[in-house]
Amino acid sequence: MLSIYDIDRVNAFCRQNRISDHPLKRLRIAFFKKGLPIEDCLEVLPEEHRAAVAGQIRMQYLHIVERHDSKRDGATKLVFQTADRQAVEAVILRITSGRTSLCISSQVGCGVDCAFCASGRGGLTRNLTADEMLDQVALAMRLLRSEGRVVRNVVVMGTGEPLHNEEALFQALETLRDPRGFYLSDRHLMVSTAGLSEAMLRFVERFPSVRLALSLHSARQEVREQIMPTAKFQTLEKLREIFPKVGKHNNFMIEYLLLKGINDGPEDLAALIDYLRGIPAHINLIQFNPHPGTAFQPVSKAAREAFGDVLRKAGFKVTLRYSLGDDIAAACGQLAGRRGKYESLVKLES
Ligand code: SF4
Repeated sequence: MLSIYDIDRVNAFCRQNRISDHPLKRLRIAFFKKGLPIEDCLEVLPEEHRAAVAGQIRMQYLHIVERHDSKRDGATKLVFQTADRQAVEAVILRITSGRTSLCISSQVGCGVDCAFCASGRGGLTRNLTADEMLDQVALAMRLLRSEGRVVRNVVVMGTGEPLHNEEALFQALETLRDPRGFYLSDRHLMVSTAGLSEAMLRFVERFPSVRLALSLHSARQEVREQIMPTAKFQTLEKLREIFPKVGKHNNFMIEYLLLKGINDGPEDLAALIDYLRGIPAHINLIQFNPHPGTAFQPVSKAAREAFGDVLRKAGFKVTLRYSLGDDIAAACGQLAGRRGKYESLVKLES
């Protein structure tokens, strides 16, 4: 069966079946832009084509099985189930400005095993397919439709290391950007990586305007190795060598999760300033959200602001990110509250 997300093959199918461009365009607007339920998407087609499209083009890969709405902010965590009953999580972020962002997952579990992260605790189960990544967006769009919202930003920052699933990630990004697909602008897309230098270079080559975030978290090699095992192979020195290339598009973001007593001292600040000197990176200071079983502690708001002030004085653009959804285990590093296979399917979406 064809996938609705495979734009070129769907075009070829429609040509073979004498479905003209106009109804195909209407179908895609209904599916990708309006977030209509699948039955309603089919109804925009002439009646004689509906059975062929429904029988040959698959339009759903996941089902929503859990929904958790934050009582404190505009976050909603969605838990999806795949066909092989794996749990996949995504988070809707309703920003106060009115914009809506969606944080999606790229893998079931994660093999990187960052010490501070709940998502990597059980290791990697499998990569998600491009269809499964994109279906997180389509299902969130359908759910948000009743609120009069649309997903405007997609960040690949949920469970998984996206660049360990490079082929599917690149395929998904093409459909997210495609005018015949979700048609999101490059600056509304962001991919976050623990730092895989070769894959980062391939990424900026193929998607020079899509935003790339590097989870740096320390500019001291011994500290970074302590909290991110991948740092042993992807050393700070190796990453620094590619910065002139990945940083040149001005879309380069450095993520720095502040962990009390680990990477928040004066020596950490000095190392960070020295390491990023001359790189037009935007530094995002992230609040740590404790989760059960972690020994790490967040720094105080005042300490975080002071850390940011020093970086600003050193000439960097700095933002302080306050994660939404920490009461529903949907904030950064908290995903994967639900692991393992479901016994049965209980769909929540209509
Ligand atoms: S922070 Fe990202 S790369 Fe590290 S374990 Fe968690 S999901 Fe994987």
